[in-house]
Amino acid sequence: MFFIKRKGKRIPIEDPIYTTCPMCGVEHPVDLVDITLQTDGDLENVQVFCERCTEKRALARAGANRGKEVQTNE
Ligand SMILES: [Zn+2]
Repeated sequence: MFFIKRKGKRIPIEDPIYTTCPMCGVEHPVDLVDITLQTDGDLENVQVFCERCTEKRALARAGANRGKEVQTNE
């Protein structure tokens, strides 16, 4: 078991762990194992977007790629 210490008290780290979305600020649960693997354990500097913002970003990227395709076809 892992825990953090706050004023001498053991606070167990249990699922779900929450973070805030850097885009909209909403609190959302994250899979700590996933995040740890993806970031090599650098949890302090990691930013995890919420589901809605992840979708928005994916759509924006898709839109940007479509834009590029149009340009190359001209
Ligand atoms: Zn968000």
